[in-house]
Amino acid sequence: MKVSVFGTGYVGLVTGACLAEVGHSVICMDVDEAKIDNLRKGILPIWEPGLQEIVERNIEAGHLSFTTDAAKAVRHGAIQMIAVGTPPGEDGSADLHYVFDVADAIAASMRGYRAIITKSTVPVGTSNKVAERITAALKARGTSETPSFDVISNPEFLKEGAAVSDFLKPDRIIVGAAGAKARALMQELYEPFNRSRERIVFMDVESAELTKYAANIMLAAKISVMNEIANVAELVGADIEDVRKGIGSDPRIGYHFIYPGAGYGGSCFPKDVRALAKLANSLGHRAELLEAIENVNNRQKTTLFAKLIRHFGGAEHLRGKTFTVWGLSFKPNTNDMREAPSRTLMEALWRAGANVQAYDPVAMDEAHRIYGERADLKLVEDKYDALNRAEALIVCTEWQQFRAPDFQEMQSRLARKVVIDGRNLYSPARMKADGWSYYSVGRTASD
Ligand code: NAD
Repeated sequence: MKVSVFGTGYVGLVTGACLAEVGHSVICMDVDEAKIDNLRKGILPIWEPGLQEIVERNIEAGHLSFTTDAAKAVRHGAIQMIAVGTPPGEDGSADLHYVFDVADAIAASMRGYRAIITKSTVPVGTSNKVAERITAALKARGTSETPSFDVISNPEFLKEGAAVSDFLKPDRIIVGAAGAKARALMQELYEPFNRSRERIVFMDVESAELTKYAANIMLAAKISVMNEIANVAELVGADIEDVRKGIGSDPRIGYHFIYPGAGYGGSCFPKDVRALAKLANSLGHRAELLEAIENVNNRQKTTLFAKLIRHFGGAEHLRGKTFTVWGLSFKPNTNDMREAPSRTLMEALWRAGANVQAYDPVAMDEAHRIYGERADLKLVEDKYDALNRAEALIVCTEWQQFRAPDFQEMQSRLARKVVIDGRNLYSPARMKADGWSYYSVGRTASD
């Protein structure tokens, strides 16, 4: 099938590349010329396991191409996927202007039938607005034959860091579509991913749009609930890791996604929780639980700094001192630093007049892009070198390579034996026995 994908970010690029990988003819369109120039040369804007190879292979095979020409992408074929960003607007509601720009571009150039698929996460009602916009634009065009179209909601559930394997082996494919033609096209498009069992769940457009928010909010809620219980555990002297195992063994709860930590980040959970709360509010319903999920998370992101202050006896004692941050991305296996806990921490350290030496396996370029050259941030290429003469190590991301470090080496590099562990990677008992001041999440400190 001929597929056009608008937007070459995490979702657009992975979708385009994986659809090309199974044999569809895909053209990816983006307004960012530099991004498209690079992609044509095989230089990717994001780091995802396996993606580089798939992109290179399919450019080579002629299944995947890139353009900045929207009209060309609209002419390419019947399937038009919208995978542009839907960032939070100033009031927290989703900013839909990128989605509507693409809808306008499709309406301006479409000739025959088009299936217009919203893959971006959009508030309930957006696909209908896209349809209304296109109908109005086609009417205004005033051509003798008005082309027909369907708008389909097909939200994406890939996880950054495992995006390619999630796309190739999806748990489910949600399709919100009214008509038989639209459903048949989606069945054909996803057939290669649907062979071992039926993965497509058909529903109406509104339910599909809400399913995406419901999934992200359920996951964000699990994290905030665990973080809140971890805060209580610290006060009562309980060990949250034992509590986690204790509740995870109940199949109604399960072990997935109940790790306490430094708060969730990334481009999806924070904005989707906010956007649904905003939507509910605009319809006269105050979604108090959604507000609580966000408030708990925002507070959790400040706990690493709070522990540091407590150890050093006040923020004023951090001035001029250097601290090491291990892990900049909001989670392992991605270079994405959007709303990452590391940013809340580093920005608090800078406000207190402290310096940061940071190391991350893949997000250092991203940190440089965000913060530029600054005297109080040193990005260090080796995790142990990043410790040199620092007053404390703060672990923000649970990368595998931080799980079993050489503690002797760490001790020889750091000025003080202080670790603030935002991901509960180390054993409090062992850290205590080795003389470390060790603070983690929801477990008693060894100080
Ligand atoms: P992104 O910011 O990484 O990429 C968006 C891309 O769209 C950019 O390259 C931008 O230049 C391009 N763009 C903007 N306007 C355009 C236009 N008019 N025509 C063509 N391209 C245009 O975004 P993302 O992380 O890929 O997210 C896209 C959507 O998918 C969002 O709604 C997001 O919530 C949702 N989503 C994201 C993830 C994730 O893990 N990142 C997972 C599931 C769903």
